[in-house]
Amino acid sequence: QPTDRSAPVFVAGRNGLVGSALWRHLTNEGFTALLGPGSAELDLRDRPAVFNWFAANRPHAVILAAARVGGIKANATRPTEFISENLRIQVNVLDAALQYRVQRLLFLGSSCIYPKAADQPIREEALLNGALEETNEAYALAKIAGIMHVRAVRRQHGLPWICAMPTNLYGPDDNFHPEHSHVLPSLIRRFHEARIHMAPKVVNWGTGTPRREFLHVDDLARACLMLLDRYDSDSPINVGTGEDLSIKELSDIVASVVGYEGSIEWDTSQPDGTYRKVLDISRIASLGWAPAIKLSEGIADTYAWYRSTVG
Ligand code: GDP
Repeated sequence: QPTDRSAPVFVAGRNGLVGSALWRHLTNEGFTALLGPGSAELDLRDRPAVFNWFAANRPHAVILAAARVGGIKANATRPTEFISENLRIQVNVLDAALQYRVQRLLFLGSSCIYPKAADQPIREEALLNGALEETNEAYALAKIAGIMHVRAVRRQHGLPWICAMPTNLYGPDDNFHPEHSHVLPSLIRRFHEARIHMAPKVVNWGTGTPRREFLHVDDLARACLMLLDRYDSDSPINVGTGEDLSIKELSDIVASVVGYEGSIEWDTSQPDGTYRKVLDISRIASLGWAPAIKLSEGIADTYAWYRSTVG
């Protein structure tokens, strides 16, 4: 049944890309008791701190959108932090949520949990059917452990907790770090700086041939609330657009949104990652959800946000 709009809902990761979109959407939808301590107030890696926070705040529902995330290079160079911090964050939050009998919990994973060789578009049933993509296996394995943790609690304790697997996300409040961010914010920043400095060329990573799917976080936030209100199953559910494009095509769209007109080169010594990653979204479509934000419009909106923060 629909989540009580006046009950305390903990948005873990409230300042991140996903958490801030959830905060906007839930506020618009009439939630009046959102809880969103920042990382300075509550470090989710600190187990006693997490338990103390739950004891004091007693959330009725939890959305676990807190994670250490990053693009292909961050994942490849810092796998230790990606596995250790993500496992700690989720074990602490899930254990505390069980101890304090949180009634509804939504755990957010990622499309990289699916096997590298999964049939495309990827259906939910592909989980654990093959080896992972090496560039993000530490992150993916932590997220798979989270899915299994939620499933264990459902089976053993009967709590209706659920998992959603979003595809590559983008939007306001993303990380635009030149080295560590995901491809879309990296391209926005690179083209923006090239245009400002009138650089004659930019160099992107890889061959540009890998294909990816991109979902605006505001569309994800709508999906999360719909799932909290209506979804109750052992299986994670995919959230994406079901449509992909090549990184080259993406790069052309970003260049045109930003107004960059110089040349675009590709550094093939940088990793491509998995060749194709696009989700089958028929399960969530059957619940009546569909993405609403077109990629070019979402990129324009994200670029406007980026400009407002860099001045
Ligand atoms: P992935 O979806 O987990 O592989 O993560 P990313 O979003 O980091 O990368 C997606 C694809 O974009 C990969 O094929 C990268 O090689 C390519 N790419 C091209 N230029 C960039 C860039 O500047 N930054 C990042 N992160 N990826 C880039």
